[in-house]
Amino acid sequence: MNFHIPTAMQLTATMSMIIGLALALTLTGFPATLRQPMRLWVRGLLIQPFSYALFSLRGQVPDWLSIIVANALLVIAFAHITEALRIYSRKSPLTGLMLVLVGLAVVGEILLTYVWPSLYGRIILISVMIGLQASIGVEAIYRKQDSITRPEHLVALMLLVGVAIMIVRVAIVPAPGFMELTMSSPLQGIVFTYAALLPVIATSGFLLMCGERLNKDLARLATIDPLTGVYNRRTMAELANKAIATSKRHGRSLSLLILDIDHFKRINDQFGHEAGDLALCRVVEIMHGVLRGSDVIARIGGEEFVAILPDSNEAAAANLAERLRERLEESDFSVSGWPVPLRASIGVGSMGPSISNLETLLRETDRAMYAAKRTGRNRVVAASTLEKGQDGVAGDRPEISSGSY
Ligand code: GH3
Ligand code: MG
Ligand code: MG
Repeated sequence: MNFHIPTAMQLTATMSMIIGLALALTLTGFPATLRQPMRLWVRGLLIQPFSYALFSLRGQVPDWLSIIVANALLVIAFAHITEALRIYSRKSPLTGLMLVLVGLAVVGEILLTYVWPSLYGRIILISVMIGLQASIGVEAIYRKQDSITRPEHLVALMLLVGVAIMIVRVAIVPAPGFMELTMSSPLQGIVFTYAALLPVIATSGFLLMCGERLNKDLARLATIDPLTGVYNRRTMAELANKAIATSKRHGRSLSLLILDIDHFKRINDQFGHEAGDLALCRVVEIMHGVLRGSDVIARIGGEEFVAILPDSNEAAAANLAERLRERLEESDFSVSGWPVPLRASIGVGSMGPSISNLETLLRETDRAMYAAKRTGRNRVVAASTLEKGQDGVAGDRPEISSGSY
């Protein structure tokens, strides 16, 4: 096979440079969390061309340039790609290890060029380095918390192919006549075809990966309350409807809590809006502590929260609500050293013969919560204890008495 290696190297260098420059221009459009891994990836793409350009000039420039510097640059470029994947996967960078690899590459290349000259030795050394870096990249992709997307599989696959090629390169002893890296052979053809394809395919995959992450983050943002991190009203309705459908299908119980902080306005008035925000976050923290992981918490109004409790009947939900109320009462929330009491009125409602959809469940639980307000606040009221129509129709919010703690 007549594969002209220096041409392939220059082609790889040009493509990597063009893709790197194009990507560098689009970086600013991405959010900060993605910009850091993308910046590392771009640097990797922009360093690599210098390495391949120097490789292609083997014999025309001094060996220290076309061997030592070129190989060091290649390892540095892959270090950037690996680090980009680690940061993307929310893992800590491996700067120390990467520096060691670069150091080993430089020292090894110097020894294998000037002390014990060996092309095969140098090929083994760099193949091991690149194979190791590619493996770290694959590990970063597959060891992350969330599920793996298709573009992530693509990038991992590209790197795994690289690892396989590096293993073959180490395993196959070059023919006696193979004297220079720029000489052609079937294996050389495979290696440099891969090298040319890597920046194109892996970068496309990486960009798609980042795009999917961006979409996922935006979709998640649209479901949560930015202050407290719990679900917003719209998502609560969606999740509650799903939970109701499941409970009906399996004949299981389902309860709802509506929690409204008592005299919340006073916290704002006395300590400022920021203290009010902190109080809201503290209430959510306490709710997380008392409720189960499978329960859904949502903020449906300024200081009003809903908890969806699957597999809980009204008695169990009322017990839980009472525990929650006590935890709030016992909490030692303070602002600038001043104790600030946290109290809440909690309504409890459950699915049953008279409550068969979300609208009724919310209405009846809301009535229970307002009954708790009206009868003194800082208490739990179950919807079943209210007489029909006792508290008026939905939306008939009672007069607030000036209760104090
Ligand atoms: P009640 O015991 O009857 O529930 O009285 P309350 O003061 O808790 O209720 P009210 O509805 O009178 O006041 C709620 C206050 O919550 C008014 C509003 O300014 C405040 N609020 C709403 N959203 C936020 C927020 O995101 N942060 C802060 N700090 N305050 C908020
Ligand atoms: Mg309130
Ligand atoms: Mg309220």
